[in-house]
Parts: sequence; C-alpha cells; structure tokens
Amino acid sequence: MIIMGAVLLCVSGVSAEQRDLFSVGVAKVDITPHGAIRLAGYANRREPSQGVASKIWAKALVIGSDNQKPSVLITAELIRAPGVLVESLAARLKKKVGLERSQLAVCVTHTHSGPALSSMLVDSYFGSNIPAPQKARIKQYTDHLLDLLEQLVLDALDNRQPSQLAWGEGSVGFATNRRMVKDGKWVGMRPNEKGVVDHALPVLRVLGAEGELRSLFLSYACHGTTYGSKFNKIHGDWAGAAAQILEDKHPDCIAMVALGCGGDANPKPRGVAAGFDVVNRHGQAVASEVERLLRGGMKVLKSKPDCRIKRIDLSVDHVPGRDELQQRLKQGANAAYFAQVMLDRLDRGEVTPTAFSYPIQVWNFGEDLSMVFLAGEVVAGYSLRLKRESGRRALWVNAYSNDDPCYIATKKMISEGGYEVDQSMDSFAKASRLSLDVEDKIVEATLSLLR
Ligand SMILES: [Zn+2]
Repeated sequence: MIIMGAVLLCVSGVSAEQRDLFSVGVAKVDITPHGAIRLAGYANRREPSQGVASKIWAKALVIGSDNQKPSVLITAELIRAPGVLVESLAARLKKKVGLERSQLAVCVTHTHSGPALSSMLVDSYFGSNIPAPQKARIKQYTDHLLDLLEQLVLDALDNRQPSQLAWGEGSVGFATNRRMVKDGKWVGMRPNEKGVVDHALPVLRVLGAEGELRSLFLSYACHGTTYGSKFNKIHGDWAGAAAQILEDKHPDCIAMVALGCGGDANPKPRGVAAGFDVVNRHGQAVASEVERLLRGGMKVLKSKPDCRIKRIDLSVDHVPGRDELQQRLKQGANAAYFAQVMLDRLDRGEVTPTAFSYPIQVWNFGEDLSMVFLAGEVVAGYSLRLKRESGRRALWVNAYSNDDPCYIATKKMISEGGYEVDQSMDSFAKASRLSLDVEDKIVEATLSLLR
C-alpha cells in the first residue's frame, strides 16, 4: 500500500501532489572489530591492525511495508562484499522475514583500512597461508558481522515510518584514473588525468513526514585507498569520512555511502605523505556536494523499487598448464602462491574453474530512476557505457555489490593488460585474466533487466 497524502507535510519545496510517501526504515550498527585483526587492502601489510582511527559502520535502508515486499539496501564499510557472506545473510532474512533475494542489495565502500573477512579466501588474498590464530580471529569477526547485519535489517524493518524519497545527481572531482597506458599497453599504476573516470555523485534523500532528514544514500566511483599501505589502523577512508561529516551536520540522519564503478580510480591526492587530513578533505568534497543538492531541490520518486536479480556465467581467458604455472612460481608473491595452489590441484587430478556465476541486480523506481548493482571491482567504462546505451536519463550504477569475484575490466583494458587485468587475479583465486566477452555479457544482461 502506498500511503499518499495521509500525513500533513511541511516539507519545504515539496508541492501537494508530490507528497508520495512510502514506509521507510533506517538503522545503523557499529561494526568496528574489538582488538587487533588483519586488515584487508594491501597484501604487503602483514601485521594485525594497530588501533582504530575511526569507527566503521554498516547501515540499512528498508523501503516498503510488509504487504509491499520491502526492499532492503545495506551499505557496509568493508573492503569487499563476499558472495558467501551476502548469500548467508539473504538465507537468514528469507527464513526470518520472507525477504526475496532480489529485494536485498549489499554494497561496500571498499575501504582499504577495514578488517579481512574469512569469506574472501584470505590465503589467496594475502598470497600466503596466514597464521592459524590470525585466521581464527578473522573467522570470529566474520561470524559476528553476519549476526550484526541480520539484526541491522530487523532494526530497520522495525522503525519504518511514512517518508518521502527524492534523488538528484552532482559531481565530485577527486577520483582519478590510475592506469598509465602507453602505445596501447599498461605501463604502471599512477594518476592518469586523461584516463576514463566517472565523477557522478547520485544522492537519494529520505525525508520523514515532518520534513526531517532521516537518511541519505549516495554513491561515488573511487577506491578507498586514500591512506595507502603504510597505514595499519581501522578507518572508513573517504566514504566513512563523508558519512561522518554529513551525520555530524544532520544528527538525526543516517548517511549511507556505496561505491560506483571505481575499479580503476584512486583518490588524488593519496598516501600518508599527503597528510592525515587528506581523507577528511575528500569526505568534505562529497559532503559539500550533497549539501548543494539538498539546497537545490531534488526529484521526488513516485514509485517504490521494482527489484530484479539475475545471474550470468562469466569466464576467465584460460586455465594455465604446468609450464605456465612453473613460470608464475618465479614471479613470487600472490602469483607464486596461487600457481602452487593450481599445481597442487593438478597433482590431485582436480581442475581450476574457468567460469564463475555473476549477480546483476536492478531496482527500477518506475520511470524516474533505475539503480544498478554490479558485483566486484567494476571499472568506470561500464557505468559510462550503461548510461549511454540504456537510453535512460536517470541511471545510478553501484559496483562492489552482492559479491566479490575480481576486477571487472572492459574489453579495451583487457587488451592493454596491467594490474586490474592480470596481476590482481591471483588474489581473487582466478586462473587468468577475464575472457574478452565479459563486458558485452554484463552490459547486455543489465540492459535486459532495465527494459
Ligand atoms: Zn580495489
């Protein structure tokens, strides 16, 4: 049931016919680990965390009353959204409140100063068999996290109130392409001002019946790598800083941040040499643009989301044979570790998989807005192409959602090679770079869900 005009509104700038109210709940939970834990983000960071520079949070937004099939959006200040974790949560929520899989979207901020999770194949991730006590600690945290996320959703379902949804889109400039390419080949990871990047900052606003700001959801396409690998404290990076600045300004508002297609974008400037305050400067840039949008008026959404999810099979380019694996052993680090894993499999007569299942989710808010949730470290070329080819003026593309298969490079990038295409794949336990048809498959499947 859509409650329309049932409550007297005094929402500034909202006319009588725009008073479309939905049953909306929001909640947040502190997910900061108690005590030291290995942080995920850099394989060369070998010691457990040395304190907490800022708390990290998970937040939930529920749209719809019980008889409307509520939709649940989670944002969490974590490096990845491992599929095992997300599907465990989905199964619990299905059992407890009957939530359909398509109605649950889980997004992360990709902070590189957050805890490792047991569901992300930590040995491949770090390129070594990590010590048993560290592994047990990571598992203990991950198990507890699942309990916290389940309770978070129940809390958000419990505090549903009539609310208005509206959205707008701004732009922020600190995300910078990080792939240097010369003569069609990748030559290193450093700021490339001419490279492809998506600077869009879409923002969803939730106002209560009295016009009070209850929640904000926003997304920006940039890695959470502001501090770099020499920083070993828990921190939410620019996304956590942006949320904190917005919540300090609006104490009754829960500010949720997700990542767009920022797989090939780093913040600029970055690194500890840029100063401890640099993360707050990036957070402030996001928060200031949100405030500008809040002042300038936003488009009221008249439909609750129609949620769809689909899985497609994607493939890697090839599974290496013994000769190639012997070569990879000489490369050291993650390449050598995963080469040995694959060699051991060959010895046991096992096969490393060539295909993996990839979830694509779309939430269509009538004709007004479509939100896409893509899994993994999707690069900017995808959101730009989807916006071009969908024919929709209002397309909001989130990545790092629902699963963490690997970097999702474009066809052009695959031919250039480089970190996101080749070197990173061992840490995701993938046999090789992606097959060239991956981009077209993802785009076609997403467009079919948008139609
Ligand atoms: Zn990344």
